[in-house]
Amino acid sequence: MRTVSARPRSSTTLNASAQAPDSSWRNWDGRQRCTPAAFARPASLEQLREVLARAQEAGHGVRVAGSGHSFTGLVLTEGTLVSLERMGRVLEVDRARGLVRVQAGITLRELNLALHRHGLALENLGDVDRQSIAGATATGTHGTGAQLRNISAQLQAVQLMCADGSILELDQESDPDAWRAARVSLGALGVVSALTLRVVPAFRLRAHDGPMPLDRALEQLDALVAEHDHFELYWFPYAEQALLRRNDRSFEPAVPRGAVRTYMDDVLLVNHGLGALCRLGRRHPRLIPQLNRLVTRLAGSSTRLDDSFRVFVSPRLVRFTEMEYAIPRERAAQAIREVRELLHQQRLPVSFPIEVRFVAADDALLSPAHGRDSCYIAVHVFDQMAYEPYFREVEAIMDRHDGRPHWGKRHFQTAQTLAPRYPEWERFAQVRARLDPEGLFANAELERVLGPVKGPGGALD
Ligand SMILES: Cc1cc2nc3c(=O)[nH]c(=O)nc-3n(C[C@H](O)[C@H](O)[C@H](O)COP(=O)(O)OP(=O)(O)OC[C@H]3O[C@@H](n4cnc5c(N)ncnc54)[C@H](O)[C@@H]3O)c2cc1C
Repeated sequence: MRTVSARPRSSTTLNASAQAPDSSWRNWDGRQRCTPAAFARPASLEQLREVLARAQEAGHGVRVAGSGHSFTGLVLTEGTLVSLERMGRVLEVDRARGLVRVQAGITLRELNLALHRHGLALENLGDVDRQSIAGATATGTHGTGAQLRNISAQLQAVQLMCADGSILELDQESDPDAWRAARVSLGALGVVSALTLRVVPAFRLRAHDGPMPLDRALEQLDALVAEHDHFELYWFPYAEQALLRRNDRSFEPAVPRGAVRTYMDDVLLVNHGLGALCRLGRRHPRLIPQLNRLVTRLAGSSTRLDDSFRVFVSPRLVRFTEMEYAIPRERAAQAIREVRELLHQQRLPVSFPIEVRFVAADDALLSPAHGRDSCYIAVHVFDQMAYEPYFREVEAIMDRHDGRPHWGKRHFQTAQTLAPRYPEWERFAQVRARLDPEGLFANAELERVLGPVKGPGGALD
């Protein structure tokens, strides 16, 4: 079973009236919470259909929760909250065609292990694997790699249950507009119940982590991104050195780290060590520049060779909140320099690194990388520390660079400010009005970022 932070304290399967009064839901960082009137965990399409019918009888809005790893209020509802955690099976593996069909509630972790048993893998991943596949694709979750698109671009087909319980099998041929909308949907169109993904033969990654002065890394950025299959840069504010992660594909046999070494590296050093320094910085913000330089020095260099999915992801035990923006790739170095200038000028107490990744363009209507090769710049703030002043200042920089926010991470945009950034914004709005005309799947966050459902009967309640 998956372990997720985002769980209701109690739940009902179908019957809202049986729900305990203290039933509540919260996301991974604990800063988004709600108490839905009903929490449903259907185990089949029939049960899911029944959940939607009952929600409508009760006058509830409906939201679907994946693993609760989004930092925004996308999942929140006081109506019916649906989890597909009981719909998490692999349905079909077609090795010859490189296609895998899964139920939408499967986590990336479960999927990676299942694929590995078949000698297959996802071509790219982000840095954790706790998300559900439907939740990850709904927000455009991505890893890094100049030639590689976000995970939703690996979709071949999407099965969607609409408000009236009807099922759409969406792909490029069946309904091109709805298909491009459903790949990065924010859960605004209906309940994704199954997905077909393109997968690749299993591969290994040779991972080399090491420091480089930030200025030098920025001068060489284009070459570094081009030279490595998966290039990523971290930089702790006030440190001179950036930390570079260079992952390259390899078909040599794996040299896995032992369990003890893995625990030492990933849990003790990266998580508990970082956590302790962050707590110290929270108590004594003036120490943060020194602590950041210390953590950069401690990070050092390392090399390993292991199965791709074991290298891509690592545990994240230190809680933080995050904002991330996709900007045109050619603006990356300039935007990072501006973030550094901001931090230095304002002496902002930030103990978490800035994370820089690269993603190829795709054509999902609301993908932050829609139509342009992108650089993603993420900023984080440690648990219980104020994030808004820092994030707003960084957002102003990203605005000047034509930035589009990650849909699962914090930002302060509205439908009005976002619409001009997406050339096919209206097309998404039309698909939404067609598939969810009554706004059953709307909530306050969607109203903020997408606006109300348009068209007759499309008003939000
Ligand atoms: C520690 C951590 C690390 C992260 N690392 C990365 C990273 O490396 N790269 C990156 O891009 N992002 C990253 N994220 C962000 C995360 O991948 C996204 O927010 C993702 O959407 C979370 O997936 P989830 O399953 O938790 O979905 P949730 O957060 O629960 O939901 C996300 C959205 O998907 C919708 N949804 C979920 N299931 C369905 C369904 N079946 N049908 C319709 N809609 C559905 C929800 O309604 C909601 O709108 C990270 C987040 C955390 C907390």
